[in-house]
Amino acid sequence: MEGLMQDWPLLVHTVLDHASTYHGDREIVSRTVEGPIHRYTYKDLERRSRKLASACSKLGVKNGDIIGTMAWNGYRHMEAWYGIMGIGAVVHTLNPRLFADQLDYIVNHAEDQHFFLDLSFVPILEGLQDRLPSIKSFIIMTDEEHMPETTLRNVTCFETLVEGGDDDFSWPSFDENTACGMCYTSGTTGNPKGVLYSHRSNVLHALAAGQGDAVNLKSLDCVMPVVPMFHANAWSFVFSAPMAGAKMVMPGPLMDGASIYELLDTEAVNLTAAVPTVWLMLLQHLEETKKPLPKLDRVVIGGSACPPAMIEAFEKNYDTQVIHAWGMTEMSPLGSLCTFKGGLDHLSEDQLWEIKKKQGRPPYMVEMKITDDDGNVLPRDGVAFGHLSVRGPAIARAYFKSEGGEILDADGFFDTGDVSTLDEYGYMGITDRSKDVIKSGGEWISSIDLENLAVGHPDVAEAAVIGVAHPKWDERPLLICVVKEGCSPSKQDILEFMTGKIAKWWMPDDVAFIDEIPHTATGKISKLELRKSFVDYELPTAQAAE
Ligand code: AMP
Repeated sequence: MEGLMQDWPLLVHTVLDHASTYHGDREIVSRTVEGPIHRYTYKDLERRSRKLASACSKLGVKNGDIIGTMAWNGYRHMEAWYGIMGIGAVVHTLNPRLFADQLDYIVNHAEDQHFFLDLSFVPILEGLQDRLPSIKSFIIMTDEEHMPETTLRNVTCFETLVEGGDDDFSWPSFDENTACGMCYTSGTTGNPKGVLYSHRSNVLHALAAGQGDAVNLKSLDCVMPVVPMFHANAWSFVFSAPMAGAKMVMPGPLMDGASIYELLDTEAVNLTAAVPTVWLMLLQHLEETKKPLPKLDRVVIGGSACPPAMIEAFEKNYDTQVIHAWGMTEMSPLGSLCTFKGGLDHLSEDQLWEIKKKQGRPPYMVEMKITDDDGNVLPRDGVAFGHLSVRGPAIARAYFKSEGGEILDADGFFDTGDVSTLDEYGYMGITDRSKDVIKSGGEWISSIDLENLAVGHPDVAEAAVIGVAHPKWDERPLLICVVKEGCSPSKQDILEFMTGKIAKWWMPDDVAFIDEIPHTATGKISKLELRKSFVDYELPTAQAAE
């Protein structure tokens, strides 16, 4: 027997309608590429997104068309998302930090029809346009006054485009499974692969993200997503914040410590989110300037492992709760968030700290399992670690154009490529990326654990650990450090600091100091680059073993 509830498709414009109707006066504050701070409300966002949707329809954008964007977090980019998605077209966000060849591949693979870009990215697209035959026009996200001289062909000014849209345009209705967003995974091997979000998956994911034990979003919050809208669906904030009616602060192009601090302070932001490298810059800025952080009550940190020293710095020095989160582009992207749950009262402070360092628990709508190399499910005892697979309605079931073939196992689980533990309380701890784990004498050493420990040394700013070939053990860990300005610890200092805190056989065989650790376009440590740089590195222990 069928239930008798209404068939109300989960379309993303319904989120905007809700925000405009019930939180119409809540502000969206943006640092613009042109310079000044811009402010308006959800009512304005909704009105202008509809006008833009109407203008895009007039431009010939149809249901199913893929439209590229390369833009910072700001109100015009949000309008582009809602306006394009609202007519059944797909927003394809591009990461400007990718190399030209990757961008070229991605735009051509997706066959982007039109392209929205911020002023900052005009030179990139000018250089690429001859290699992008599918693009019919470029829309520069500024007003007529700031339109640049450009060699881009078929250029439109965003504000002029919006002006041409109809005020009385109303959103069309269509199937909630219609695609609405697209993001290519960085992929350390092979070509990038397109992940295609649907209206339904984005709405469900936003509901999951907002839950009390997840990000805990409320209308009283003032949220600053520093995580870019071109990285993994901006961790859902473009949907989850309006859904809750929270005030939004969009940082635009400036993500250095001083600029981020300025917005946190002047806009009274109480919730923010980004990768650890952003928080490294903020914490350094706070240390140097001795400034307080009184209004920020929680910070979501993910995208790569949050070092425990960073959790301590925020929680102990600034009384800001860290919510350590894990996820991936394929998961919309949130997969787990670390907040304490009921029933842990019997645990000691040390035991709670062990939990706090983990990547957390999945919200409703994410199922997890860990398996061994043969696919056998491993126990949830916090000790056994294996391949982490996930299942849920906001998790990819295939890549765009079937790249990579079948990606689910017989039970419908997606292999994340991460190795992790699951404990009896439901908390997941990432051991490593399966490609990065160090295989020493048939046993596995977690590079993340070693990195977390090394950055706890007061002189170390950033650390990375890679496996280096070893004649006896196959691979042994090499610790690579960037030291804080004015510090010059010796190898021995750092190894002594680590001694006793990890199993003896996990101790790095050597320490190398470099000026800068290479990062990927999404802010992760690039182990690929490091492995290339250290390919011929000879460990001191290698000679002894020969
Ligand atoms: P991306 O799709 O670019 O967001 O990358 C997803 C990958 O980033 C995951 O599969 C993990 O390897 C890594 N990752 C994300 N968050 C964390 C975290 N909190 N701790 C460790 N690794 C993480």
